[in-house]
Amino acid sequence: MKPLWEIASSLWRFIDQRDQLLIVSLHRIDRPQGLPLSIVEKSLRFLADRYRFVLPDELRHRDVRGKMAMLTVDDGHAEVYSVLYPMIRSLNIRMVVCVTTDFFLRNRWLWFDKVRWILEQPGLDQRLQSYTLPGQTSVFENPRYLSKFFKSLPADTRDELINGLAQHCELNVPTEPSEGFRPVRAHEVQDMLESRAVELASHTVTHPILMNLSDEALEFELRHSKKELEDFSGRRIHSFCYPNGLPGDFDARTMLAVNDAGYGMAFSSIEGVNYKNNLAWDQLKRIHIHRTPHIFKRGISGLTEVIGRLKHL
Ligand SMILES: [Zn+2]
Repeated sequence: MKPLWEIASSLWRFIDQRDQLLIVSLHRIDRPQGLPLSIVEKSLRFLADRYRFVLPDELRHRDVRGKMAMLTVDDGHAEVYSVLYPMIRSLNIRMVVCVTTDFFLRNRWLWFDKVRWILEQPGLDQRLQSYTLPGQTSVFENPRYLSKFFKSLPADTRDELINGLAQHCELNVPTEPSEGFRPVRAHEVQDMLESRAVELASHTVTHPILMNLSDEALEFELRHSKKELEDFSGRRIHSFCYPNGLPGDFDARTMLAVNDAGYGMAFSSIEGVNYKNNLAWDQLKRIHIHRTPHIFKRGISGLTEVIGRLKHL
């Protein structure tokens, strides 16, 4: 099926000449659960040959023309500079780094990294099997469930439970993110910003799910992160990236707050291509680089969405 999908995707990309903004997203790369570097490199090279890469600043007047692409990288881990930056420079493309300011500016753990760090410690199987969450019988068959459960909680309860998990496993979590979990450094970001190939976006202060927040806390996460990054970079921050970003992680109230905080665009994690004729700037769709190249090519061509719609007819 692979060659057939490749052919269908390139055919569709050729037929569909609508003005569009393709936003590609990346999280961790080259880590145990991250994407292999070779896949990232190949996917970006494919895009570099076919799309014009833009940054949010260039789109502040919302002028989408032809086939535009934007590369977004979420959270702001160290490999943004050590691995991705040299890659985008050699491909002559640009990227938006979406940073969480407590992590980037104050070197504080991202809460889900802390969970990951705990789960990655060796010899914990027995301890973890006897771990139960309040109101749950057994959670430990599926570690992904653990993060999903934590995601639904207010920050205080969540952090208390994460510390409880560490205690249960008799672990001392390092006070700052350890190697493999550390943020990109300030001078590295300054270096990237000077090249004009990189722009910063806000990804909140503490990476909460916005729906869990009171109006006051929501405003703080949106406005304070924006101000901090503007002070840091001396440039306007035009774009925002929803933590988690899937349906149910943001709604009309949170989108309104994003607009009110002065962001011109916001990235979701909903899969799809943004076409000029129905472009929703406050919930832009993205395509995640997939480890299977023909699935990625089908996604960026827009064919995946077309097939999805046909199935619902
Ligand atoms: Zn994130």
